[in-house]
Amino acid sequence: MPRPILLSISLSLVVLTASSRGDGYHWPLDAPRALTSTFAEHRSGHLHAGIDLKTWGQVGCGVHAVGDGYVWRVRTSPWNYGKALYLRLQDGKTALYAHLSDFAIPIREIVEGEQARQGRYSVDLALEPDEIPVREGELVGFSGRTGCDHPHLHFELRDEENCPVNPLSHGFSVADHRAPLPVSLSITPLDWRSAVDGQLGSQLYPLRWNAKERQYRLTSIPHVEGRVVLALAVHDLADGAENRLNVYALHLFVDERRIFSAAYDRFSFSSTDKVNLETDYDLFRRGRGIYHNLYVAQGNDLPFYGIQELNSGVIDARILKPGQHQVRIRAEDHYGNTSQVEFFLLLDNRPQLEDVHIYRDSISLHMEVRATDPDGPIQRVLVEVSEDLGGRWEPLKAVSVPGQEDVYRARRMDPGDSVLLIRTWAEDQFGVRSHPRIGSAGVLPREDGEPKFGWNLTFYHNFAEIFIRSDRLLAQEPKVMINQMGEEPRLVPVHLEGPYQYRGLAPLLPGMDGDAVVSIVGRDLSGRLGAAGFSFPVNTVTKKGGGRLGDIQEGIEAVFQPGCVYQTFVGRVEEMTIGSQPGLSMRSKAFFLYPDDIVFDGRATVFLAPPEGQEQNERIGVYRLSRDGEWCFAGRIVERTGGAVGAQVKSLSTFALLEDQIAPLIWRVRPKNGLQTRQQRPVLSARIRDKGSGIGREEDVMLVLDGQTVISQYDPPVEAVSYRPKKPLALGEHLLEVIVRDRAGNESRAQSRFTIIP
Ligand SMILES: [Zn+2]
Repeated sequence: MPRPILLSISLSLVVLTASSRGDGYHWPLDAPRALTSTFAEHRSGHLHAGIDLKTWGQVGCGVHAVGDGYVWRVRTSPWNYGKALYLRLQDGKTALYAHLSDFAIPIREIVEGEQARQGRYSVDLALEPDEIPVREGELVGFSGRTGCDHPHLHFELRDEENCPVNPLSHGFSVADHRAPLPVSLSITPLDWRSAVDGQLGSQLYPLRWNAKERQYRLTSIPHVEGRVVLALAVHDLADGAENRLNVYALHLFVDERRIFSAAYDRFSFSSTDKVNLETDYDLFRRGRGIYHNLYVAQGNDLPFYGIQELNSGVIDARILKPGQHQVRIRAEDHYGNTSQVEFFLLLDNRPQLEDVHIYRDSISLHMEVRATDPDGPIQRVLVEVSEDLGGRWEPLKAVSVPGQEDVYRARRMDPGDSVLLIRTWAEDQFGVRSHPRIGSAGVLPREDGEPKFGWNLTFYHNFAEIFIRSDRLLAQEPKVMINQMGEEPRLVPVHLEGPYQYRGLAPLLPGMDGDAVVSIVGRDLSGRLGAAGFSFPVNTVTKKGGGRLGDIQEGIEAVFQPGCVYQTFVGRVEEMTIGSQPGLSMRSKAFFLYPDDIVFDGRATVFLAPPEGQEQNERIGVYRLSRDGEWCFAGRIVERTGGAVGAQVKSLSTFALLEDQIAPLIWRVRPKNGLQTRQQRPVLSARIRDKGSGIGREEDVMLVLDGQTVISQYDPPVEAVSYRPKKPLALGEHLLEVIVRDRAGNESRAQSRFTIIP
């Protein structure tokens, strides 16, 4: 794998900086130093608030106080941080150790005492400064994997305001001589007037290492129209392990002027959900990877970004000079290892063409078009004529008309009674062509019936792309109007896309909810008019006022409170055909709510109508279809009249009501039924799993020994529950019962009778 050589001068600078800012902390873990995750990495719905230290597959590595202080807080939970310890340090900072397998003795005793007092495993304890003081380097616990899938130590450092700070900036360093590895670049148009390489959606560009220049390059020069933003898929590697880490800083330069800068030093928990603005949410949801946005998205108030002028990273072809611009991205890790990505963008707005006007004099046919270019002169206008309905095209010379700005004319002998098709383009100084326009001269006598049209639609956040097919050649582009409720009817600009095919872009305006009606009128070469129309519902959700999608009368409704989204969007509901899955039965139609890449600031509530008479059925809940096609429980709230069942959701996707009729599975109850053992403190355990709604609360998992509920530890990632008696059990027979409920209230029980013998 190619990577740039680290300059020795920058290494020595970094070492100096690192040691001068080294805060003299003790390393927290007894294991060879390596990281599996770094600060501010993308996690589902939040930013990673600390660093993850590799425990090399082990649990039980010693965990130490990084400085003098005291135990401030201790928490236990089957989820999230698992067993977690918070130390308040003498310098005012807080050190947090998570996913521990156990605490050191005095802490463990306090936790177990509180668990016994509350009768539950999950506790959250605040301690006074004099209860458990700690000295730097003192053993405070053992690493584990509570609340997570893989053993590691999650270590967080928080400042006096309880904001997580980057531990690597505070002296917790590992050996790293490897530069960040940029993988791919995305370019995303920001509105309907913008495009990249002619496309309206994000385009991905692979990066190639250029050994001579010691930098990464694109293999092409993307053509940008309007306003676009960039995002970079990049990760860092350190010396000790192959884990992909976050970079420390990113900078974007256009023509050597810095227009965006990010450094991951600190954030506040109140803005951690802005992770979906920090990285490209659409690409993430589509499984394309994590792309760091190289611009500050609307609503993104994370404190990572340095440069706020010049549109904060937006590249605007309407402001910058047309032509090629040099773009450079610098990715840095925490140790000064740097990678550069360098490429050119062609910023150039496409020329535009008005209708083709055709008129005759006594001997000639004249064709006249108006061509304009928003950012420069028109290089030439191309006019092509076909006498055989598009089979063969003959180029004509078009010349600009003196005294008439932007007007170009071509001339040809009048063919008399045959039909001519005329196709026109304009080309600008960079060879970028306008969309073609089509016109005709003469009338074909033989076409029967009216022209017919077909169409389909692609929706973007605030515009629709309309594709139209005609069943025959048309004399010119069809006229397309959109009539959106509460708005004046608007003409949709339409151009020729291919033979019989046209494309139009219709911006959708935020306003009244209701149907948008689209009408298409076109004339064929025999002069017959054809018309068609269709409509689609438009629901607008605004940042300020909120809004709703769908209608519960039609089966689904999503309600957005004011401030629930960062930007206004036009949404839609589409019915889907999707089946049940084992353990879950469909109790409503499935609906796809668009756009599924809109980022939420908070939650929306999705309501679905249950079948008649099933309003009280508690086994029915709202489910969301995951990207890999699994139905996942989203919630069950009933707060509306009419019995609609709702769930709070953080994104749009496909939703349906499903009924979970299958109780959880319990297996491998230990000690085994009928076992005789001399072990007086046997570990009581069982494996548990629920395929439908899942197990949502720790009180839904119970171990009952001889009629007494014990404080068992539920371990969701390994689907297990366990308990080790604190005192030896009495000789004789014991009864262990396992009781597990899912979120739908289905309950399973299993039991085992075992005997302790002398
Ligand atoms: Zn972590």
